[in-house]
Amino acid sequence: MSDHEINIQPDPDWKDILGIEDDLTTEEKLVQKTAYDYSSQELFPRVKEAFKNEIFDKSIINELGKLGLIAPTISTKYGGSELNNVCYGLIAYEIEKVDSGYRSVMSVQSSLVIHPIYEFGSEKQKSEYIPELIKGNLIGCFGLTEPNHGSDPSSMQTTARKVDRGWSISGTKTWITNAPIADIAIIWAKTDENILRGFILDRNKHDFATAKIDGKFSLRTSETGEIHMDETFISDDCILPNVVGLKGPFSCLNKARYGIAWGTIGSAEFCWHSAREYALNRNQFNRPIASNQLIQKDLVDFQTQITLGKLAVLKLGREMDKRNINPAAISLMKRNNCQIALDIARKSRDILGGNGISNDYHIIRHLLNLETVNTYEGTANIHTLILGRSQTGIQAFS
Ligand SMILES: Cc1cc2nc3c(=O)[nH]c(=O)nc-3n(C[C@H](O)[C@H](O)[C@H](O)COP(=O)(O)OP(=O)(O)OC[C@H]3O[C@@H](n4cnc5c(N)ncnc54)[C@H](O)[C@@H]3O)c2cc1C
Repeated sequence: MSDHEINIQPDPDWKDILGIEDDLTTEEKLVQKTAYDYSSQELFPRVKEAFKNEIFDKSIINELGKLGLIAPTISTKYGGSELNNVCYGLIAYEIEKVDSGYRSVMSVQSSLVIHPIYEFGSEKQKSEYIPELIKGNLIGCFGLTEPNHGSDPSSMQTTARKVDRGWSISGTKTWITNAPIADIAIIWAKTDENILRGFILDRNKHDFATAKIDGKFSLRTSETGEIHMDETFISDDCILPNVVGLKGPFSCLNKARYGIAWGTIGSAEFCWHSAREYALNRNQFNRPIASNQLIQKDLVDFQTQITLGKLAVLKLGREMDKRNINPAAISLMKRNNCQIALDIARKSRDILGGNGISNDYHIIRHLLNLETVNTYEGTANIHTLILGRSQTGIQAFS
């Protein structure tokens, strides 16, 4: 009997060989199960058509809200569940196993819209918006990027001019997730004194236009658009009163980047498991392609990268639950996990051969999505520069 025949059954714990999930608390496991059940039963059946036809079903945001999967770390006073950062990460991980576009919608609503209102808003702003955003009755978006300023938001051109009893905002934001369907927009703009401030624009109260960006080949299940403001008047009570400068948007981005570091592991895991399954069932040269050492090496590389990435992001979440973490640690994990997920998706696509490019097998969708995930919330290069600055003390951005 050959070794191949003796070892015909895979190890029962190949999926989680270090038992990482055993380190989760009962509450964390419950949150993960809720997110898994919802994602596999409600999101997965819709994703193929949604990606093909480039549609976002708005009811998804209500469904996420009903299950408590939006902004779970927020205080119960505003409708949150006061869960820890690990729970938030696990939600991102389970949703992104299905699709990065759906995870993006959840991340924007939680980290880029609810978080700034919660951290920097007035009591009136918090009670007016957060409970409805958490339930998914309102949809929000976050406008930082502009046509001429992406990686360098400090040079932004959107202005907020002080006028009698309020502000006049002018400028264009682009590549904004949820913009076409948003009820409110968190807009970052520069005042007459060249100081960056955050503002809440409300579709029911303020005059601004949002145009959908069609024809994306990535994140097709989430809507992306532009925001145009031409002397849009907003009253004084629409400014976020408790933050000044880049600290505002960067604090939001750090929250979202942490979620991405978890989410990309979910996406990578989907690709790994699909590629393994396929390799075991696909015969070429009269034997499963999984019998080839070259294919097994890829599968083992996937397992190694995913195991290390998951372990590290769990450690990051635990640290964030204990203390104010150095933002460079978040850059480390966003950069690493995006890059390993992209690599795993590309190689998994290859293992599926021609079938790998079909929407029916989902991997090409993950691969295309991950191209955006690697770019937004700070490109890989920008996180490299953040980490380089952190260990050398030298700014290499410009
Ligand atoms: C689908 C999608 C959704 C998005 N959603 C949002 C959103 O909701 N809100 C929002 O505000 N933004 C959003 N973005 C925008 C995103 O954050 C930006 O695309 C990203 O920050 C990069 O900016 P840019 O596209 O202008 O590229 P640029 O900044 O022009 O960068 C182009 C390339 O140059 C590199 N580069 C730039 N500077 C340096 C440097 N100093 N050293 C080395 N390399 C450098 C970059 O790494 C990149 O590879 C979204 C983008 C996409 C594609």
